[in-house]
Amino acid sequence: MNIHEYQAKAVLKEFGVPISRGVPILEKSAARSAAAELPGPLFVVKSQIHAGGRGKGRFKETEAGPQGGVRLAKSPEEVELFVGQMLGRTLVTVQTGPSGKQVNRLYLEEGSDIAKEFYISLLVDRSTSRVSFVVSTEGGMDIEEVAHKTPDKIVTFSVDPATGVLPHHGRRVAQALGLDGDLAKQAGKLTAQLYEAFVAKDMAMLEINPLIVSADGRLICLDAKISFDSNSLFRHPEIFALRDESEEDAKEIEASKHDLSYISLDGEIGCMVNGAGLAMATMDIIKLYGAQPANFLDVGGGATKEKVTEAFKIITSDPQVKGILVNIFGGIMKCDVIAEGVIAAVKDVGLTVPLVVRLEGTNVALGKKIIAASGLNVIPADDLDDAAQKIVAAVKKV
Ligand code: ADP
Ligand code: MG
Repeated sequence: MNIHEYQAKAVLKEFGVPISRGVPILEKSAARSAAAELPGPLFVVKSQIHAGGRGKGRFKETEAGPQGGVRLAKSPEEVELFVGQMLGRTLVTVQTGPSGKQVNRLYLEEGSDIAKEFYISLLVDRSTSRVSFVVSTEGGMDIEEVAHKTPDKIVTFSVDPATGVLPHHGRRVAQALGLDGDLAKQAGKLTAQLYEAFVAKDMAMLEINPLIVSADGRLICLDAKISFDSNSLFRHPEIFALRDESEEDAKEIEASKHDLSYISLDGEIGCMVNGAGLAMATMDIIKLYGAQPANFLDVGGGATKEKVTEAFKIITSDPQVKGILVNIFGGIMKCDVIAEGVIAAVKDVGLTVPLVVRLEGTNVALGKKIIAASGLNVIPADDLDDAAQKIVAAVKKV
């Protein structure tokens, strides 16, 4: 689960992490009072969306004057002007895709005088089973590009969970950033605070870009992006409360209500599969035959007729879906139950795109018979290869 920058900063503040003063703005009328809470004379109006690259982003509805999703305002009047221009508008950044994201919240922050911009992030490194730090002097820009063009400017190290973070980790960060004296001390403290926050809140990723040195010699986290391990949210109700459903895919929210593992993707073939491994294999083979999956969907081992119906509804609600592939291995689940579920779903929501059904396993003969007898326009398939070729061919024909 992701949260907004202003929420991330509030979480980090609990651990003593240095951030700037700021006030969230949820409606235009709050712009003046928000500005009055900050000292000025420099303010930064920041779009709050779950995507990066906001500074270089562009609003779809353009006007004269500044354009980005992060704007420097030099007076409360200018704050009010920018709030009016940004709130409710659609911001397009390199991470939102061309359709952009509506900005429903802003964050007004005191403006910092920036001397240097750095990068620091923490993530779970699965290969070492540890929390890793990624540190670079090249802050404020796209870290993937830095990694690609100048990999020597990125320093990484991991922390042994048995010892936790130690002073030498802090010195490593300071050295990587070329800091000494008091700034090195601040870097040491920050390293420990970020690690503590990361572990305590079960984060999956914590990215500060940029971490700055201000003109008056302070390290400040000027941007903050946090993703939490969704499996840990049951023990962090205070984090779960920060969820902003308007930032999430409506189909994924609906799927989670029915306990379906569903991830929305960009392709044209909707998939309904049982078992994560089979779902992955199905996506792979669709790609092998030259098309793209529209989703990952695992209906689970013990799916009922109702669950299959809900899954079908979610798949067909996606306007990008040009064909559907049902690929079920009946182990615990019986093929006749799936067949009935598919038929019930088709009768319920209708079928405007080609549907290929491949069943295998327990009660397969009965399942196939039920589908054949239904009179529905279903293309039967015998194995995974056959099924993938048939759905790709059907979609390409349309
Ligand atoms: P994004 O990464 O989505 O573009 P950031 O929060 O990193 O958004 O802001 C983009 C840039 O705007 C930063 O790299 C920094 O140069 C500037 N900036 C952000 N917040 C402030 C602030 N409070 N004071 C001064 N400059 C800021
Ligand atoms: Mg940033």
